[in-house]
Order: sequence, then structure tokens, then C-alpha cells
Amino acid sequence: MKISVIGTGYVGLVTGTCLAETGNEVLCIDIDKDKVKQMQEGIVPIYEPQLDVLFERNIKANRLWFSTSLEEGLNHGEIIFLALPTPEDEDGSADLSYVLGAAKEIGKLIKDYKVIVDKSTVPVGTSDKVKETIAKETNVAFDVVSNPEFLREGFAVEDFLKPERIVIGSSSERATQLMEKLYKPFVRSGNPIIIMDEKSAELTKYAANSFLATKITFMNEIANFCEKVGADVDMVRIGMGTDSRIGKRFLFPGIGYGGSCFPKDVKALHKSGKDHNYHFNILNSVIKVNDVQKKVLIPRIASYFNQNLKDKTFAVWGLAFKPETDDIREAPALYIIEELLKLGATINVFDPEALPNVKRKFGQQLNYASNMYEATKNADALIICTEWSIFRTPDFNKLKSNLNQPVIFDGRNLYDIKDVKAEGFYYNSIGRQAVG
Ligand code: NAD
Repeated sequence: MKISVIGTGYVGLVTGTCLAETGNEVLCIDIDKDKVKQMQEGIVPIYEPQLDVLFERNIKANRLWFSTSLEEGLNHGEIIFLALPTPEDEDGSADLSYVLGAAKEIGKLIKDYKVIVDKSTVPVGTSDKVKETIAKETNVAFDVVSNPEFLREGFAVEDFLKPERIVIGSSSERATQLMEKLYKPFVRSGNPIIIMDEKSAELTKYAANSFLATKITFMNEIANFCEKVGADVDMVRIGMGTDSRIGKRFLFPGIGYGGSCFPKDVKALHKSGKDHNYHFNILNSVIKVNDVQKKVLIPRIASYFNQNLKDKTFAVWGLAFKPETDDIREAPALYIIEELLKLGATINVFDPEALPNVKRKFGQQLNYASNMYEATKNADALIICTEWSIFRTPDFNKLKSNLNQPVIFDGRNLYDIKDVKAEGFYYNSIGRQAVG
């Protein structure tokens, strides 16, 4: 099939590349000229495991192309995916200007029947808005389908190739059949393609992300309470998670959820509720708790150093909002860094993939280390913000000799308390007693 994908970010580029992998001819469109030039030269503009291999293979096989021309995209694809940003607007709602702007242009350019597929995360009712916007510009027949994306950054290719489910919101038999044909190769193991109306599909995505953010937040509150009463959140987590009704995943406490999706999606659903006269009390609490949790380490660090961080240097390990990505959008590490800078501290940072993005944001304000140990040299404490695998079994002797004093603040509970204590460190983590 001939497919066009408008917007080649984390979702669009993975969608385009994976659809080419099953034999489709895919043209990816992006407004960012530099990005398109890079991709035309065979360079993957983002870090996502396995993507480079598929990207190269499908370009070589002449199934994957890139352009800045929306017109070319409209001429090429019979199915047109919108994988455009829906960032948080000032009032917490999802900013639909990218999606509706593209819809207007599509209305002007469309010449024959197309299925316009909304893959962006959008509030209930957006599919109707996209239809209206296109229809204002043209009399050509088209259908709009809502096809929310559930991939996880860091596992995006794997998730796209082997999805647990595919949700299609459609009221057109013709469009539904095309979508089922397109996705059939991805569900050979029997996972479902769930067909529903557009509004339910749109809400499914927000409900899923908000539920997961709530699960994390609930556990963060349990962790905070553990510290008050002397319980160990790791034990509580294991005790709870073995109940199959609860499940083991998304129960790890930490310094709050971040990323390009959870923060904005929870806020957008909350705002969507308000717009329809429904107050999501639970989401209101999730937003508030997470805002506090992102900075939960700051008062501890300040207190350890007698409220004076001016002449202190900190090593920060992990800057991406989670491991296996270079995405730093809403990463908790950034909030911690900003607070420490305000308090006058000097900061050395290291992340396996996210340093270029952090450099673009903070410039000369930080010292960028080329490896994890270099960041710790002459630092007064190590702060861990992202649970990259390489941080899990460090050489504690090396750490001890690099740091001015053996102090670790761990926002991701990477180490066994007893082990770190035995190594002679002061160790402060989440939902467990500080030791050392
Ligand atoms: P992104 O910011 O990484 O990428 C968006 C791309 O769209 C950019 O390359 C940008 O240059 C391009 N763009 C902007 N305006 C354009 C235009 N008019 N024409 C062509 N290209 C244009 O965004 P993303 O993370 O891929 O997210 C896209 C959507 O998917 C969002 O709604 C997001 O909520 C949703 N989503 C994201 C994830 C994720 O893990 N990142 C997962 C599921 C759903």
C-alpha cells in the first residue's frame, strides 16, 4: 500500500519505518528541513533502539522516502497518517493547531479519496474537528480515522512491530477495511485490532496514559509514607505486585513521571473533563503529587549540606526522562538541575544518549562528562535521575575515590541499601530509610 506519514518525530518516524518494513511504500513528510535533509542522507535523527537497522534497510529497498512537501505526501499516500505534536497549551489543554493546520492544508491539496489517520494523541471530538476542517476546503471524498499510538519510547520499534492491541476508531467501513489490511501483518500472533467509534478511540489513549500515571503516582505516595513510618517500599511493592489484579509493572517509585506524553496527557484529560463540566478529582491529585515528587530530592540534598549548596558540585547521572531514549521532554532530571542551579550549585552531568539535547537546553551552565565516572570527579554527591542499565552495577571503589565524600541520592532505587551501606556510602533513596 502507499502510505504517507506527516510528522517524523518519535511516533511518525517509527510508524513510517515499520510500515515500510512490511512492504508498504512510505513517504515521510516533515516541516523541519534540516531533519528531512538528515534523513535523506540516511541519518536517523532520534535515538530509538533497532530503528537504525530498519531505517537503512527500507531506504535501500526503495520503500522509504522523505520530503518537506505536504503536496507530495498527499499525492503519494492513499492512507495519510498525522503524527504531529499535540503539546500542552497554556490552560493545560492539548494544542491542536498542528493537527488542524495540517487538516486545512490537506483539504486544499486533496484530489482523490484518502483515509486521514490521526495518530497524534488528541482530545475526544478531534476527529470531528479534523473532518469539518478538511470538508470546509474540498468536496473530494475522504474518511478520518482515529488510531491512537501506544508505543513506548525506548521500545518503540518492538511495540510497533508487535503491538498488544491496535485501536481503530472509525465510522467508515471502507476506511476500516483499509486499516485492517494495513495492520494485519503486525497481529499475526493473535493480538486484537479493536474497532470502535472515533470518540472512544480518542479517549482510550488518554485513559490508558492517565491510568498508568496514576499507578506510578499512587506508588510514589506509598513510598513517601514508607519513609515516615519506617517501611521499605521495595518490600511493599513486591508484596502488592504479586496480586494479579494489581500486576508488577508501573509500581516502581521514583522522582515522578515525565516525558512527552504522561504530563501533557494527564493535564489534557483533566482539562477536557472541565470543558464538559466533569471534574476529574483523581487526575487533579495526580498532577499535584507529581509536581512535588519531581523535586523530592532537593530538600534532602539541601538538608544534608546544611542548606548551603553554593560551593557544592553535584554529579547527575541520567538526564533522559527514562532509559533507552534521548528524549528529555519533562524529564525529572531537568527540574532537579534547575533547582540546584538556582541554589548556586555546580553540576556535572552524564547520560548515555541525551547529552546533545541537554546541551541545547542548558549550554554552558553545566559541565558535560564523557562518561559516568568523569562526572563524579571532585563532586560532593552523586544524584541518580534515570535508571539506565550502565548505572546499576558501578565500581563503588572508583566512585568513592572520585567523589569528595561518598554520598548518593538515588531517585530510582538502583541499589540494595545494605550493599551501598557496606561500601561505606551515605545513601538516600525513595521510600526506604536513608543509610550511612
Ligand atoms: P515529536 O515532537 O517527536 O515529532 C513531531 C514531528 O512533527 C516533528 O518532527 C515536527 O518537525 C513535525 N511537524 C510539526 N509540524 C509539522 C507540519 N505542519 N508538517 C509536517 N511535520 C510537522 O512528536 P512525537 O513524540 O512523535 O508525538 C507525536 C504525537 O504522538 C503526539 O500527539 C504525542 O502525544 C503522540 N504520542 C507520542 C508517543 C511518544 O512516545 N513520543 C507515544 C504515543 C503517542
